[in-house]
Order: sequence, then C-alpha cells, then structure tokens
Amino acid sequence: KKYEEMRSEFVANVSHELRTPLTSIRGFAETLLDTENTDQAHAREFLLIINKEAERLSRLIDNLLHLSKIEQTGFVPNLEAFPIKDLIRLASEVIRPKAAEKNLTVVLGTPDILPLAHADPDMIRQVLLNLIDNAINYTPVGGTIRISAGIELGHMKIDVQDNGIGIPPENVARLFERFYRVDKARSRELGGTGLGLSIVKHIIEAHKGGLQVESKVGKGSTFSVLLPLAENVHRSEGEEQNEN
Ligand code: ADP
Repeated sequence: KKYEEMRSEFVANVSHELRTPLTSIRGFAETLLDTENTDQAHAREFLLIINKEAERLSRLIDNLLHLSKIEQTGFVPNLEAFPIKDLIRLASEVIRPKAAEKNLTVVLGTPDILPLAHADPDMIRQVLLNLIDNAINYTPVGGTIRISAGIELGHMKIDVQDNGIGIPPENVARLFERFYRVDKARSRELGGTGLGLSIVKHIIEAHKGGLQVESKVGKGSTFSVLLPLAENVHRSEGEEQNEN
C-alpha cells in the first residue's frame, strides 16, 4: 500500500513538473499566434522563453529516464579501478564555460598520488557534473568552487565545495528527495529539475558509498562523496618520470 501511495505521488509530481513548462510554452505560443502586431523585439523575447522552457522539458525527461534506469532492481554499476584525478579534471573542463559565464573560479586540489577508486566512471562523472552544476547555480557571481579528493577512513573522498548561498539546516535532510528544492522559484529560474541530487544519491547507493553535506547559509556548501578504493596505487605520469 505504501509503495502504491509513493508511486501515485511520484506520477502526480512528474505530471506537475511537466505541466509547468508546457503551460508556459503554450501560453507564449498562443500569444504569438493571436497577436497580429507583435513587434519583432517582443516576438523574439517570447521565442527565447519558449526555447528555454523546451530545454527544461528535455532536461527533465533525460533526468527521469536516467533515474528510472538506476532505480531498476538488479541495476549494477560497471565497476572498475580508475584514477579519480583524471575524472575530476574532465568534469571540471565540461563545466568551465558555465563557470566562466558567472566569473567563478574553479580550483582543483587533488594529490598526484592517490589509490584508484573502485567505481563506475561514467556514473561518477554524472555525480560530479550534478554536484558541480549545483555549486555553480547556487553561488553568486565571482565566487569560488573547489573540487578536491583524498583518502578518508579507507575510502576515496571527493569534495565539491562552494562559497555560495548555503542551505538552511532544516532543509538538508530532504535535499536528496526527488523534486525537492529549497527555493522552487530560484531552481526554476536556473533551469533546475529538482532531480540532480536524487540521481546522485541513487548512484552512490548503488556503489555502497556515502554522501555528506555541510552547509552554512550565506557561507557556502560542501557536498562530499565517499567511494570504495581499489587496491593499486595510481601515480601520475609526472611522478613515474621523476622516479626513473
Ligand atoms: P535542482 O535542479 O533544483 O538544482 P537538485 O536535486 O540538484 O535540484 O538540488 C535540490 C535542491 O538542493 C536545489 O533546488 C537547491 O535548493 C539545493 N542545493 C543543491 N546544491 C546546492 C548548493 N551547492 N548550494 C545551495 N543549495 C543547493
């Protein structure tokens, strides 16, 4: 019964989330069709809104499909041993243009020698992208985002830290629920889907890893991911050359 309730609540949530951008698309399209004398500038403004809302719809559907894939029973990540440093560098390159738009500084702090993580690289890339994307969205212009990795209690610990708006303590426990947002209007304005952190949570659970959040309103947030370690030690090429 509980499962059925959750299911219908989810369907209601999804329908609501899909309807919001659709209503806006229809509204602006109808205005464009109805008004005979819409000037060029206004028409362009409406088309930009329609485009933005359509992008949000596709992001929402992509996220829903992704979530449904990783929520399936029997889903197992493709585990392999890999250097986390390379993945952090890759993810940071992907988001650099978006960070540059807000004049944010992205700092990477990962030691050259680190054991390999034992995880699914594609999925962890997604985790990093979601966390960094949030760090960018919820940090005002000119802020700093720091992505670092290290070993803690026999696990690989990756931190994504920002000095942005922070999260009130009473909201932290619910952050990883689907469609939960601290500030709906702000998330919407930023094109958020409210699914990013629930995807992160599912991926990390599938890895039997851990998640931690530390945040202070007005000071910033740190999201930390804990992953199992592979046994080998990774040395960057630079280090190996030094030794030879
Ligand atoms: P969204 O698409 O709304 O960003 P997420 O699931 O990624 O959805 O995050 C859920 C909510 O958690 C966000 O709407 C925001 O309120 C809050 N949040 C996530 N990351 C941060 C952060 N780095 N700083 C402040 N708030 C955050």
